Amino acid sequence: MSWGLTFKNILLPIFCKRCDRRLLTEENGYFCPTCWEGSPRITRPFCSLCGRPHKGTVGFGTIQNFPCATCHAMKPRKRHTRQIVGAAYYDEAVGEAIRWLKFRGRQRLAAPLAELMADMAERELETACYDILVPVPLHPVRQRERGFNQAALLGHELGPVFPNARVEHVLTRQKPTKVQSRLRTPEQRRDNVRGAFAVSGEVKGRTVLLIDDVVTTGGTVRECARMLNKAGAAAVDVLATALATHAPGQADDRA
Ligand SMILES: [Zn+2]
Ligand SMILES: [Zn+2]
Repeated sequence: MSWGLTFKNILLPIFCKRCDRRLLTEENGYFCPTCWEGSPRITRPFCSLCGRPHKGTVGFGTIQNFPCATCHAMKPRKRHTRQIVGAAYYDEAVGEAIRWLKFRGRQRLAAPLAELMADMAERELETACYDILVPVPLHPVRQRERGFNQAALLGHELGPVFPNARVEHVLTRQKPTKVQSRLRTPEQRRDNVRGAFAVSGEVKGRTVLLIDDVVTTGGTVRECARMLNKAGAAAVDVLATALATHAPGQADDRA
């Protein structure tokens, strides 16, 4: 927290958005360290393709990532992405922070959220292999309403983590889409995003890291990846702040 914020906090106390405890020197100005650190992160073992946590197996002291049953059953040509990783569950303080960022315009939350993504990237991705970071675009009307694209803010915060990549807005969203999680069947979700994106920049032979805030079903990022691959991208990985999924063993285990 900056001195300006600290001073402001003395005059106008700031409280944790989750537990209402008063914030004094906390980093992000919105959540206390207990709520922020306690918000569940995604750690090994998780699916090496879609990033969803699974129970895994422990062999000789190492916990391995391997494909979940759903990804294992999916035809490789339908995956479009090489790997999807998410830093945290779309839940608790991290979930709230994403909603405060997106729906209430608290752009300052992009930095602590990107920090979670940076930690995940440094642990699980080969950060030097990417040529471009591509934020999942909003439809122009939505972007005008919101005033910013949260994925682009996260991408810019993440720049220093990827030594050979820079943010390039090579994707555009051509049609407004419904919220994927509200659609019931895989067919509805596929039709909703099918043809929604176009590639407007040079991606041939380049290794792309798609950046998004929340991955729910993976349909949106896979459709983006399908278009990038069609335009000649060498490979497409996805880094998300959060995955809307449950911990293994909990209800609705989509892994
Ligand atoms: Zn709190
Ligand atoms: Zn999977």
